[in-house]
Amino acid sequence: MANGLLINYDYCTGCHSCEVACKKSHDIPLGKWGIKLTQIGPFEVEQGKWEWDYVPVPTDLCDLCEERVAEGRDPSCVHHCLAFCMEYGPLEDLAKRAAELGKKTTIFVP
Ligand code: SF4
Ligand code: SF4
Repeated sequence: MANGLLINYDYCTGCHSCEVACKKSHDIPLGKWGIKLTQIGPFEVEQGKWEWDYVPVPTDLCDLCEERVAEGRDPSCVHHCLAFCMEYGPLEDLAKRAAELGKKTTIFVP
C-alpha cells in the first residue's frame, strides 16, 4: 500500500514551517523546495464572500522522508506543522480521514 501526505488546508496558516523543515532535513538549496506553499486567491466567490487559501504542495524532490519514516518518525513537514493540519500514512487511511474532515482536504502522492 502506497503512502502519501494529507493536508487539511482549511487550517493552513501559510507559516512556511513545512517548507523550511523539509529544506533543512533534506539539505535542499536556495531556490528549490521539497514542498512549496501556494496561494489561491484572494478572489470574490460571491458578493461579499472572498476565498483565500494556502495550499502547500510537495514537489518532485519529496521522498516522503523515507529515512525518518524508516526510523518510525513522522515526516519533517508533518512534525513541524504548527497548525497540525498535515498527516502521513497509507492512502487508504488518508482517504478515510479526508472523508471525516469533509472539506478543503487534499492528498498528495509525490
Ligand atoms: S514528506 Fe519529507 S520530503 Fe516530503 S515534503 Fe514533507 S518534509 Fe519534504
Ligand atoms: S507548516 Fe502547516 S500551517 Fe504552516 S504552511 Fe505548512 S501546512 Fe500550512
